[in-house]
Amino acid sequence: MTTTATGHSRAAARAADVWKVYGSGEAQVIALRGIDAEFRRGRFTAIMGPSGSGKSTLMHCLAGLDNVTRGTITIGDTTVTGLGDAGLTRLRRDKVGFVFQQFNLLPTLTAEENILLPLAIAGRKPDPTWFDTVIDTVGLRDRLHHRPAQLSGGQQQRVACARALVARPEVIFADEPTGNLDSHAGADVLGFLRNSVRDHGQTIVMVTHDPVAASYADRVVFLADGQIVHELTAPTPDTVLDTMKKLDNAATEAVA
Ligand code: ADP
Repeated sequence: MTTTATGHSRAAARAADVWKVYGSGEAQVIALRGIDAEFRRGRFTAIMGPSGSGKSTLMHCLAGLDNVTRGTITIGDTTVTGLGDAGLTRLRRDKVGFVFQQFNLLPTLTAEENILLPLAIAGRKPDPTWFDTVIDTVGLRDRLHHRPAQLSGGQQQRVACARALVARPEVIFADEPTGNLDSHAGADVLGFLRNSVRDHGQTIVMVTHDPVAASYADRVVFLADGQIVHELTAPTPDTVLDTMKKLDNAATEAVA
């Protein structure tokens, strides 16, 4: 565990020996097998791995959306494992932001209302300077009064990014954020996410299967069969793709 001189943890999120078992008996699936991972503040981490390797489960457990079978999750200074329903609701409201593949905007609200909704629910007022910075960063100034149906997919995902950023959460979890976008709109969204890390110290953990998307991150964590099997720092699309191929070959040889 990395701790600063003040005792304040440098990890925005941490998993310590996390296991997740679904079902029991014949139907039992071990989705996570003793995951140890630290996600440092102000870093952009991508989680990759084949379908079924445990990426979504890990993200859901880290974000307090699913409970773990064993082990400990912390977000900032909060131990997530062991929180009751009220504590989890507060955690998700105050410390965590989400960007989903499907945007998850409310269709009857304008872009601005969607962006401010989590703060409104929490009874918090937006910091006007920060709100302006976020809107300019994601390039939505002239779209604030549009409803989602009047926006392109890329613009809708920018609204979702702004909604996550405006609350300045401890961590933003992004689940295949470019999965529904063409490559141009996807590159825009990934650029905003990376800039929010570089310029504003936001911490982001993103699940993706796309080597180009992963190359926007500072670090890539590779999962296979519920375990972390490899890590890359300063990834490029080529180094990510090479690693995916090597891991895939190793898995094929292990089965043969
Ligand atoms: P990934 O996101 O890498 O595709 P998941 O985390 O969705 O992987 O799934 C990991 C494993 O856990 C898979 O074998 C999947 O079938 C299983 N799993 C996920 N969610 C559930 C669930 N709610 N009930 C039973 N098994 C599940």
